[in-house]
Amino acid sequence: MTEVQKRRIITLRSQGLSYKQVGDELGLTKDSVKMFCIRNGFGGSNITINGKTCPWCGRFLKQLKGKKKRRFCSSLCRQLWWSKNRDQLNHRKTIEQVCPTCGKRFEAYPSDGRKYCSHKCYIIQRFKTIH
Ligand SMILES: [Zn+2]
Ligand SMILES: [Zn+2]
Repeated sequence: MTEVQKRRIITLRSQGLSYKQVGDELGLTKDSVKMFCIRNGFGGSNITINGKTCPWCGRFLKQLKGKKKRRFCSSLCRQLWWSKNRDQLNHRKTIEQVCPTCGKRFEAYPSDGRKYCSHKCYIIQRFKTIH
């Protein structure tokens, strides 16, 4: 079996073709296609692979028919990925703001609608506008 054939098997299986259909397409026997799939962890008639890989370990994702699409191959991979990426994701969501009272730059979440770097600056500004 060549590398090209292996890649084709993965592609065709991800499109939902059966072992036999894939075999016919590539001139391989049904059994050799089946063996390849089982050895690489995506055997089983009700399992297809969607051509996507787990962002943590890079393994192909198995997809159970009729089930919600998975992003990770296991819950462990999901946990590890999130623990590593949570900080970055949160950081990306903040925007830089300039406090109108003291001119200091600070990071804030857009959803917070914060205008001032601190409550103190907010009070000072409010005091100014009242008078
Ligand atoms: Zn994984
Ligand atoms: Zn301030």
